[in-house]
Amino acid sequence: MADSKQLYQEVILDHNKKPRNWGTLADATHKAEGVNPLCGDHIHLSVKLSDDKVEAISFEGESCAICKASASMMTGTVKGKSRADAEQMVQEFRDMATGKLDPAGPHHLGRLTVFAGVRDLPTRVKCAILPWHTLHAAFTGSMSTSTESDADPMHAPIGGA
Ligand code: ZN
Repeated sequence: MADSKQLYQEVILDHNKKPRNWGTLADATHKAEGVNPLCGDHIHLSVKLSDDKVEAISFEGESCAICKASASMMTGTVKGKSRADAEQMVQEFRDMATGKLDPAGPHHLGRLTVFAGVRDLPTRVKCAILPWHTLHAAFTGSMSTSTESDADPMHAPIGGA
C-alpha cells in the first residue's frame, strides 16, 4: 500500500498547486455552493449542461488540499460525460470514500481511486466528498437566469447564432 499512499500524496499536491478547471463559467446553466464547516471548505461550482451532457465545468473557492484536489479531478473527469454518468460517479465516489465500494471492484471512477484512502481518515471523508455533493446539488437545482431561455421559448435566441 506504500505506492498508493505515495501516489495519493503526489496527486493531491499536484492538483492543489495547479487546480484544473479553476474559475467560474459565464454561461453556466447550473450552479451550486458547497460548504463543509467541519474543515472550512467552501467551493462554488458552475456547470454548463448541453443536451444533458457536461459541456463545461469549473470551480473556485477556499478549501483544503484534499477538497481542492478532489474538485479538480472531478471536473476533469465528468467533463464530456452525460449527466446520468456523472450522477453515477457521484454515487460511486461517495461509496468508495465511505468504504462501501471496493476500489478494486467494478466502477467508473478510474484514477479517482487515488482517494480510496480517505475512508481510513474520517475527518477527511467530507473534504473529498464535498465537490461531488456540490455537483449533485448543481444538477438538481438549476439557475433561473440561464434556464430562462429554455423555459420561455419566446425569449430563445433565433437561429442559434
Ligand atoms: Zn477540507
